[in-house]
Amino acid sequence: MPELPEVETIRRELEPLVCGKTFAPPILHMPSTIEYPEPEDFSGLLAGNTIVNLGRRGKYLLFNLDRGILAVHLRMTGNLVYTASGLPPGERFLRVSLPFAGGSALHYSDMRRFGRLWLVSGPDELEEKVLKRIGPDILEEVDLDKFVALLGKRQRSRLKALLLDQGFAAGMGNIYTDECLFRCGLHPRRQVSSLSRKEAEELYRSVKSVLADGIEHGGTTFRDYRNASGALGDFQSRLAVYGRLGETCPCGTPIEKTREAGRGTYFCPRCQK
Ligand SMILES: [Zn+2]
Repeated sequence: MPELPEVETIRRELEPLVCGKTFAPPILHMPSTIEYPEPEDFSGLLAGNTIVNLGRRGKYLLFNLDRGILAVHLRMTGNLVYTASGLPPGERFLRVSLPFAGGSALHYSDMRRFGRLWLVSGPDELEEKVLKRIGPDILEEVDLDKFVALLGKRQRSRLKALLLDQGFAAGMGNIYTDECLFRCGLHPRRQVSSLSRKEAEELYRSVKSVLADGIEHGGTTFRDYRNASGALGDFQSRLAVYGRLGETCPCGTPIEKTREAGRGTYFCPRCQK
């Protein structure tokens, strides 16, 4: 599932390709992909809009338009691919095609069909219709003081569940959360109230470093993720615990897997307290 670094990678790749381009009428191969407004209204409202820049909040990709904002959430298996020819990229699970005036196009495909698109009139409607329960972007909008303040409101939460909670802060998913907790030596089940100030600061630095490293390496590639040009990220080769059940941690202890917050969770029982 794409997490913040994968969405940020897509944002950085797409921005120079699509900025200044004007949408032609879209083709809805699967209209239920459009969450808001009604699909028949979406098409008329999107056509004629020009892309000003690309933003992001957590895992939401935001196309800032001259009249509104197009928001995209890829969920489990969503994929956005740009083609200069405008032709579909040969994806089997094409859901929405977004052609531009002049011939190029963006194509949204999604095997599992959980991904969604929204078209809203501006920032207020974006908050109301799309980001109502979504916290600040954990990479861009949370500094150390804010992080500590947010932790203060969630004293009873356990770390794995907390970092996965997009209402706490937006962007972390299963892979980067496990890697982050390994980096700072904290057990996924630790309760926030048990953290010292030093541990809270290490957790903060670990969040930032794991996301920055993920972005630097173009994201993590598993079964379904491709970045916008169809290339593969390579952060998976740098994962220390995720997906490494039974492999040996540098400390000599086998990596274990448990279930935490309903998700498969990898950790080193010796390094993470
Ligand atoms: Zn270890």
